Amino acid sequence: MKIHEYQARRLFEEAGIPVARAETAKTPAEAEAAAARIGTAVAVKAQVHVGGRGKAGGVKLAGGPKEAAAAAEKILGMTIKGSVVRQVLVMEKVNIAREVYLGLVFDRDRRGHGLIVSAAGGVDIEEVAAKTPEKIHREFIHPLAGLSGFQARKAAFSLGIPKPAALETAKTLMALYGLFQKTDATLAEINPYVIRPDGTTVAIDAKMNFDDNALFRHRAIESLRDMQEEEPLEIEAKSADLAYVHLGGDIGIIGNGAGLVMTTLDVVTACGGKPANFLDIGGSSSPEKVRRALEIVLKEKGLKVIFLNVFGGITRCDDVATGLVQAIRSLAPKIPIVIRMTGTNVELGMNILKESGLNLKTHPTMQAAAAEAARLSGT
Ligand code: GDP
Ligand code: MN
Repeated sequence: MKIHEYQARRLFEEAGIPVARAETAKTPAEAEAAAARIGTAVAVKAQVHVGGRGKAGGVKLAGGPKEAAAAAEKILGMTIKGSVVRQVLVMEKVNIAREVYLGLVFDRDRRGHGLIVSAAGGVDIEEVAAKTPEKIHREFIHPLAGLSGFQARKAAFSLGIPKPAALETAKTLMALYGLFQKTDATLAEINPYVIRPDGTTVAIDAKMNFDDNALFRHRAIESLRDMQEEEPLEIEAKSADLAYVHLGGDIGIIGNGAGLVMTTLDVVTACGGKPANFLDIGGSSSPEKVRRALEIVLKEKGLKVIFLNVFGGITRCDDVATGLVQAIRSLAPKIPIVIRMTGTNVELGMNILKESGLNLKTHPTMQAAAAEAARLSGT
């Protein structure tokens, strides 16, 4: 789960990380009032769940309240990488001597948490990593010992900043790690962390992502979720207790069990098809669940065919067939549905399909069905 900068900034503040003064605003008038209260020049920043707002025109500096209102007027309503700006953060303008990058991430190669810092802050860190990897300093964090003060200082001093600033930065890294660890975050990033001309330091951006599977033990964090930033079909699927991921192709995929659905995606892709989604109806599927699944997948735009792949175990093929027939009757889909169904109660299931009079064709193997789905999608 992602959160907004203004929310991450508040978590940073609570964790003892120095942050620039800021207030949110939903209208130009609110931005003007916020800038007046802050009382300095400000940066007006789009609050959306995507990076690179600066480059996209979503961050504007303003000399005072009137200029802040004008900046907010321009930024509010803007679409940045598909997200509509509904709110801005009005932040005290900070004088910058140096911009550095501080981040805590998953180090998948080493199967643990990693600390990344770079003297090349403010810009896209992926680009720095690709073009000038020598500008990135990494520390692997021992899963039991956690980030040590020594590692934090080593990383901070690698930035080539004055000693007091480096010591402050090391303190920030320890606080950031504490927060990252405590909240089951998957990413905590400050880009840029600023060294002011007087040598003091402050965070002027804030980003955190969290592990969805750990949110049940962080209700306060979960309440920060912004539904308007989430994939609408994923929300709908979640409320129906279905695991759904939007992928963007034109073949809708429905299966039972995450492993089978993943395999189906692979086989369809190997046949030259492009899966539109991942949808797992789970183990104990009722006809109702199958109906909901079809309803959700049919909302994918540009869909050319649906591939239903069921291997009945606990899931019974007659339940799946019943749900499918109900769904087709009520939704009357205009695209073909390719079915491969085997396992528990398969004969009963096949009978239900046959007796429905809907002319539903089934395929004996996943391979044959996947090839047919790819063919029908036009690849
Ligand atoms: P991002 O592009 O979405 O990562 O947004 P940031 O909040 O990181 O802002 C992008 C850039 O705008 C920063 O790297 C700074 O160069 C600039 N910027 C943002 N806030 C301030 C500020 O308070 N003072 C100054 N001088 N520049 C700022
Ligand atoms: Mn940034």
